[in-house]
Parts: sequence; C-alpha cells; structure tokens
Amino acid sequence: MKKTFEVQSGTTLRCKGWRQEALLRLLENVLAVGEAPEKLIVYAAMGRAARDWPAYNAIVEALLTLEEDQTLIVQSGKPIGILRTHSQAPIVIMANCNMVGQWAKAENFYALEQQNLICWGGLTAGDWQYIGSQGVIQGTYEIFCRIAERHFDNDLRGRFILTAGLGGMGGAQPLAGRMANAAILTVEVNPERIEKRIKAGFLERRADTLDEALALIADAQARREPISVGLLGNAAEIYPQILARGIIPDIVTDQTSAHDLVYGYVPLGHTLEQVAARRTSDMEGLMNDSRASIVQHVQAMLGFQDRGAVVFDNGNLIRTHARQGGVERAFNIPVFTEAFLRPLFARAIGPFRWIALSNDADDIRKIDDFLLRRFPDNLIVSNWIKLARQYVPFEGLPARIAWLGHGERTELALEVNRMVRDGELSGPVAFTRDHLDAGAMAHPNIMTENMRDGSDAIADWPLLNAMINCSSCADLVAIHSGGGGYSGYMTSAGVTVTADGSVAADQRLQLSMTNDTASGVLRYADAGYEEALDEVERKQIGRIDTAAARYQ
Ligand code: NAD
Repeated sequence: MKKTFEVQSGTTLRCKGWRQEALLRLLENVLAVGEAPEKLIVYAAMGRAARDWPAYNAIVEALLTLEEDQTLIVQSGKPIGILRTHSQAPIVIMANCNMVGQWAKAENFYALEQQNLICWGGLTAGDWQYIGSQGVIQGTYEIFCRIAERHFDNDLRGRFILTAGLGGMGGAQPLAGRMANAAILTVEVNPERIEKRIKAGFLERRADTLDEALALIADAQARREPISVGLLGNAAEIYPQILARGIIPDIVTDQTSAHDLVYGYVPLGHTLEQVAARRTSDMEGLMNDSRASIVQHVQAMLGFQDRGAVVFDNGNLIRTHARQGGVERAFNIPVFTEAFLRPLFARAIGPFRWIALSNDADDIRKIDDFLLRRFPDNLIVSNWIKLARQYVPFEGLPARIAWLGHGERTELALEVNRMVRDGELSGPVAFTRDHLDAGAMAHPNIMTENMRDGSDAIADWPLLNAMINCSSCADLVAIHSGGGGYSGYMTSAGVTVTADGSVAADQRLQLSMTNDTASGVLRYADAGYEEALDEVERKQIGRIDTAAARYQ
C-alpha cells in the first residue's frame, strides 16, 4: 500500500515553540507535495528532504525536543548535533552537499552518496522550503510575459509554446503558459507525471500522439484561446519530429531534469525501467546515452531558433551537456535569468513565499488582500496575486509566491506578524524564498551567467548571504551546493523565518528579511548594475558608495 504523507494542521503545538513546529511542518510538507516521498525525493530527480529514513526520524525527534535557545546542525540531510546557542539564534543551520572544488564532480557525488555520506538537497528540498509546482510558477509566467513584451506586442494569444518536463518544477509550465494566454505543449516521458499534473489542476489535456497534440494546439491557436496539452513522449524524439514537419513554435524551452545524466534525463529509446536498471549496471554508458540524446534535443532547439522561434534555457544545464557532447552553438540559446529576469534581480526582486502553517487557505487569501491594498501600482505583484487567486491550486500547506523586493518583503512579513498577533489569521505563517534569488546563488550557467563584471563563478556571495541571515536571527539558514549532475556547478543559500505573532518575531523578520535582500542588492551593485546602484542610493542600503570610495 502506498504510504500517505500528512502535515499537522491547526494550532496545536507538538514542539516547544512555533519556530520549531514551523520547521517540522515544512519538513512534512515537502514530502506531502514531493515527487517520490517514500524515497524522500522532493523534486529535480534526486533533491531530498533528508539523507535517509533514520536521519529523517532523528530530525523529527530533534525538532520535537529542541529548546528555544538551542540550534540543530544538519549535514547533508543528517542531524549531527544540538548545541546551546541563544533564543535569537537560528533553530536549524545546515550545509548540504558542499564538496571541495576539485572533488565536486558528479561521479564523486554518486560514490559518496552510495556510501551514505552525502545527499543533495536541491535548492528547496533539503531545507524544507518547497511548496509544490507553485514555487516556480510566477518565475515561468514572468518569463513568458517578458517574451510577450519583447517579441509579440505584449500578447501571447494564438502563440504556440513548446516545452518538456512535467516534474516537480516543470509541472508549473503548462499553467504558467495558460495564464499567459498561450497554447502550450509539454512533452513528458513518464505517464504518471502527466496524470499527476492533470489531477493537481496544472495541466488541462493529455495527448497520446504527436498528431493529436498538434491538432489541439493548432485549433486553440486559430481560436486565439489558451490551452495546455501534455504529450507522452521523449523530447529528444518529439522536438526533431516537430522541426522536420516545418512547424515552428513561437517560444521553445525545456525543463526536463537534463542536469542529471543518470537520475534525471531519460535517453532516447529507453523505458523508465531500463534507465533504472542501467544506473547500477552501466552508469557510464547511461551518461553517454543521455548526453547523446541531449545533443539531438538541443540541436532541434537550435533549429527552431534558426527559423525564428524565441528559444531559452530554463535552468537545467541542458546547454552545458549539449556542448560537452559537441554542440558548439549550444550557448547561442540564452539562459532565462540573464535574458529576462536580471533587471529584477538587480533590485533584489525575486521569488518570495509564505506558507500558512495552520493549513487554513483563508490566511493566504487575507494576505493576498493586504498585498492588493498595499501595492496596487506594483503590477508584478498585483497582477500576479489576482491571477494566482484565480488559477493556482494549493498543494499541501496553502502557500503563495510573489516577486517582492527590498523593503517590500520586510513590510509584508511585519504586517503578517501583526495579523497573527491580533488573531486576524488562524495561525503562524512561515516566510521563505527560492535560492534562485539575488544574493543567494552562484550558478554560472544559470543564475550568474555573463555577469557584467565577470563574477559568474564566485561563490562568496551566497556564503555571505547565509552568514548575514544567521547574524540576522533567521530561524533556518542553509548553504547548498550542487549534487548529481549539478556537482561543481553551483552554490546557494536558503532562509526561513516564522511569523508567530511575537515581538521577538518582529525583530527576526525585520532583520533577516531586510538583510537578505540587502545582500542581493549589494551583490548586483558591486557588479555594476544600474538598477542595483539606484536601489542602494534610494533606499540607503549598506552605504556601499561611501565605503567603496573610502577603500579604493
Ligand atoms: P523532476 O525530476 O521532478 O522532473 C523532470 C521531468 O522530466 C520528469 O517528469 C521526467 O520524466 C521528465 N523527463 C526526463 N527526461 C525526459 C525526456 N527525454 N523527454 C521528456 N521528458 C523527460 O525535475 P523538476 O523539479 O521538474 O526540475 C526540472 C529541471 O529544472 C531540473 O534540471 C531542475 O534543476 C531545473 N529547475 C529550474 C528552475 C528554474 O528556476 N528555472 C527551478 C527549479 C528547477
């Protein structure tokens, strides 16, 4: 029988305080909404919530007994000790999957993982911040909107988006495309993933043949009506077939787990069972076959680009593996961050999230109302909240994501803390964000590609971000590096703080929400981005101008 994973609801505490209880509920939540919870896998092929089940149980036990002035230390998904700190120190600190530079390779990661010495936390899996496919949906939607502005007179009606991957993150694509009014086709090799997204309300239609899928898309295009279609198939086969028919989508991307050649991408001609068997019997051969399929996949993407489609990489290293497989032009495809989101990140506007810990969806609606009243002129926020209310279903604990910037996040968090204190909400609310945020990530093929000052690969920034969040009394702070196919490609930092209505939470939220985004603005200001320099000047962040002048 399939085990079900549940999250505690209501306001009864099992832990000694809400800070501990919040983290326990978030841990339960990432499994409740994750892709393969029985294996502790949350998303991105092998992003795990904990190292193994004994480690999971030990984390739960620790959170249940932790005092307010203690800190639990977690190393790659395993709790290694509880130390006495003080009542404003983080409740949990973690370092997940950090390997020393020359050792940070996929093969070494797999060997260490097999010895049960390490596990990969993805970005938001290992530090219990994942909120289902909603977590990336506004980012994907914003990318489609920016493309619409730049290339399609701000209107995607009648436009065709082709993509692939309906996993933990990729599953957001059909809904994001539909919300942007496009006709979106997503190719997915695993039928269960298609069914899961239909059931969750993220995907409308399933097609079993390419003819059927293209007919549904063409019909919706002709009527200028949005539609989302999932097609069962392998993208490395379907993309070239669509190209060969001379059908050129308006926008093309991909969100398969192409970053991982062993546990993520499914090579051509393979069933899921065949891939699983080769992981142990022939890992090297499997990596070669995955790379060879990615070559065909990316060559088709370049073919679409040559014939006028707007093509972009959606953050899965597909270009990197294609180039290693010999596709020299792979990096002609731009990455979404540099192409569409950098001006937002330079102002530390990024994917901020909040989660209703009591499991009451009305709490999220009340917070939506506040945002609509407080930021009516901020269209990134107000348009999104209206759309999200209408279209985005809740998965697990009710949660919302919105791209808020420096000062805005602090204001929202403090207001929510007041609402909790005054009994306007039915329970505490946790605040967190994606690691793909201004100050929190060094990822030279995704987040920090082509930084203006050439600082793409410098990982000091996320490490500083984590340290300032620890110094700013956040409840959980995590430092992650890439695992599996991402080994050696990235370092990032995560933070979570709970609004439990207390005065102490006011201080924690004020400091950590403010300093988290401040570190992002300072990172981009140091790289010379005008938006960040403007933000520093207008909001007086960190006084970097006078400091820089003094030290030059
Ligand atoms: P996932 O492992 O949960 O899902 C990947 C899906 O791709 C699976 O359903 C798998 O069956 C499918 N797939 C694999 N090979 C395929 C092929 N050849 N053809 C068709 N389908 C195939 O991963 P996820 O969490 O959805 O993440 C997908 C990728 O996006 C990862 O590389 C992840 O790191 C990246 N990512 C990007 C962002 C971003 O901000 N842009 C955010 C999170 C994750």
